[in-house]
Amino acid sequence: MPAFWTEADYDEHELVQLVHDVRSGLTAIIALHSTHLGPGAGGTRFWHYADPAAAMRDVLRLSRGMSYKNAMAGLPMGGGKAVILADVAKTKTPAMLAAFGDAVEALGGRYVTAEDVGISEADMVAIAGRTAFVSGLPAAGAHAAGGDPGPFTALGIYHGIRAAVRHNLGKDSLAGVHVAVQGTGSVGGGVARLLARDGARLTLADIHADRAAALATELGGTAVASDAILDTACDVFSPNALGAILDDAGIARLDCAIVAGGANNQLARGHHGAMLADRGILYAPDYVINAGGIISVTLEYLSRRDGAPCDVNQVNDRIAQIPGRLEQIWQESDASGVSPDQVADRMAQKLIGR
Ligand code: NAD
Repeated sequence: MPAFWTEADYDEHELVQLVHDVRSGLTAIIALHSTHLGPGAGGTRFWHYADPAAAMRDVLRLSRGMSYKNAMAGLPMGGGKAVILADVAKTKTPAMLAAFGDAVEALGGRYVTAEDVGISEADMVAIAGRTAFVSGLPAAGAHAAGGDPGPFTALGIYHGIRAAVRHNLGKDSLAGVHVAVQGTGSVGGGVARLLARDGARLTLADIHADRAAALATELGGTAVASDAILDTACDVFSPNALGAILDDAGIARLDCAIVAGGANNQLARGHHGAMLADRGILYAPDYVINAGGIISVTLEYLSRRDGAPCDVNQVNDRIAQIPGRLEQIWQESDASGVSPDQVADRMAQKLIGR
């Protein structure tokens, strides 16, 4: 395992812990970036990394992102993240999830976990058998907060796209606005459905081409090959698949006025936000627009912890505040000439006392 404090992505993280359980074969890293605003909250990723250094980079970057995301969403939570290292010989087992739950419990509430890539609601239920510091559990009733964060993330992105269209194109309606959606999974599919309701024109792509094609048929949009979506001439490009797609080559290919989508870590490097601004493209900082899911799981967690019921309307009301935060960022960016990603980073850093 590499020394984490020599990593370029180490940003004075408060705790970086290697968890190894010989019996179950669990190898995981838990990182707490900042607990300035509250316990570090962020999901657990189960992923087959090329090497341990890649896992370390991922957990360092993602936990810092959670500090920024939670702060900008006005949540009383800090930033944390966990990665479980998978490989062909290490499939997910109940014993591994139990050992991971014990590791979360041992942190005594400094870290609160939830779903991320490769971890399901059922996995969270299993982890909850060993620790109470878990969110993203099934909703306790029809109107109670909780469950899969994907639809809540999609709702926030839909609000954010509407705000961006208003800010940059001066339109109050999405009717006829052309949105190119990359990734039609839980988040991208949800965003596309909400946009279709408002009469947006949709171009959809997914590496699972059948998934994009089925959604295009359902919603009356057009499906294109996944390697063609970045070049699609459109009003809004909405990345909802992978991170780091906005690099030198990706940005040069864009033919849009706005980038607004849910993928985490869309900008490959720090200077790519300024590059978007130089091209006259309005960017909705990813960790601000995609906070709907963490808003949902956090309100669910706090309500269970405090024994105070929370219904889904309270979650939706908090998600409806996302456009206001984006507008504040864009206005400050317009006034200062500093790109929106940098404006957002400075706001978040101030909130977490960095
Ligand atoms: P998902 O696995 O349900 O969907 C992702 C989709 O993207 C899949 O259909 C996949 O086939 C497709 N895809 C992968 N690579 C692609 C490519 N190169 N081109 C086109 N399509 C591609 O995942 P999700 O939950 O919808 O998450 C999507 C993104 O949003 C991720 O970056 C995730 O980190 C981020 N995010 C998700 C949530 C949430 O609540 N689920 C919250 C915040 C951020």
